[in-house]
Parts: sequence; structure tokens; C-alpha cells
Amino acid sequence: MRIKRLRIAGFKSFVDPADLRIEPGLTGVVGPNGCGKSNLLEALRWTMGEASAKSLRGAEMEDVIFAGTATRPPRDFAEVSILAELPTADGVEETEIVRRIERGAGSAYRIDGRDVRARDVALLFADAATGAHSPALVSQGKIGAVIAAKPADRRAMLEEAAGIAGLHVRRRDAEQK
Ligand code: ATP
Ligand code: MG
Repeated sequence: MRIKRLRIAGFKSFVDPADLRIEPGLTGVVGPNGCGKSNLLEALRWTMGEASAKSLRGAEMEDVIFAGTATRPPRDFAEVSILAELPTADGVEETEIVRRIERGAGSAYRIDGRDVRARDVALLFADAATGAHSPALVSQGKIGAVIAAKPADRRAMLEEAAGIAGLHVRRRDAEQK
């Protein structure tokens, strides 16, 4: 999977819609402390289905919505869109994944304009060997956590990296039926 574009509106410090094209190769995000570098990565992780507000440095999920500043009022919703290129049997295909949260209404997900469940988004990224908990996304302070991880947790990281994490979700589903 290759992420081609990230569109962020009302998420944390990204109050005005921001459109980021991500070119092939290595991308660096640089800027002074507090300018929003971690928020950018969190927007990506959030859209991939991150369910823990704490791991997004908030108390509740609604804390990701722009909370206002001295000069700007707070927003009522946050929306992030990922345009990704996914491999198919005969080439690649573009897919847009959108997550939106509204105050008092919770999160909603769309894949290519269709309303879907959080688990559909999680499966899409699990099959592509990436996702909210992918070892490809290393947050500040995460290195220490990897070193201190229990073997079972480390196995989960390896399975995610190997692209087989989605199989466990499907097996649990099958066992319940
Ligand atoms: P560092 O270099 O220190 O790691 P950074 O570039 O990663 O900094 P972030 O942590 O991404 O910076 O951004 C922090 C900023 O985001 C703070 O100014 C904080 O007030 C702002 N912020 C976080 N959540 C919200 C929110 N819900 N609404 C408005 N601003 C927010
Ligand atoms: Mg940071």
C-alpha cells in the first residue's frame, strides 16, 4: 500500500483543511516544537481506526476535534481522508478511506464513499500490512515500549508486520458463527 494524499480538516491543530500530497520515496516532516508533526501522524493513525483516545494523547475521542484558540472558535467535527494505492490482482487501485467524528455523535467511516464499519477499515489496513497499530508507525516514546514488550505483544507486532493480523480477526469471527 502506498499513501498518496492525506486531507485533514478540524483535526487537532489542523483547523483549516490541509491537503498533503505524499510523493513516492522518503517524506520528512520538519518544524518547530508544537507545530503539529505528531498531530499529522496521529491523523493518519486515527483514520486507520485507532480506538484509544489515550494513545492519541487525549482523554476522550472527541478531544481530536479542534478545540479552539484565543482567536478561533472550536469546531464541531474533524474529518481525515487517506487516498491510498492498493495492490490488486492486475495492478493497483486507488481507494479513499475517510473517518469523521462529530461532537456527541461519535465516529463514522467511509471507504470510497460507502458507509462502512470500523472493522472494515481495520481489515483493509491489516491485509495491507499496515494500520493504526502497525510497527511501521513509531510514535514518540514507542521505541522504549517495543524494547520492554512482553513476548506475546512482540509476536503481535511481528504478525502485523507480516500482514497476517487480519487472519486472527476473521478466525475469531468464524469461531463465533
Ligand atoms: P514536538 O516537536 O514537540 O514533538 P510536534 O510538532 O509533534 O511537537 P504536536 O504535538 O503535533 O507538535 O502539536 C501540539 C500542538 O497541537 C499544541 O500546540 C496543541 O495545543 C495543539 N493541539 C492538540 N490538540 C488540539 C486540539 N484538539 N485543538 C487545537 N489544538 C490542539
Ligand atoms: Mg511530536
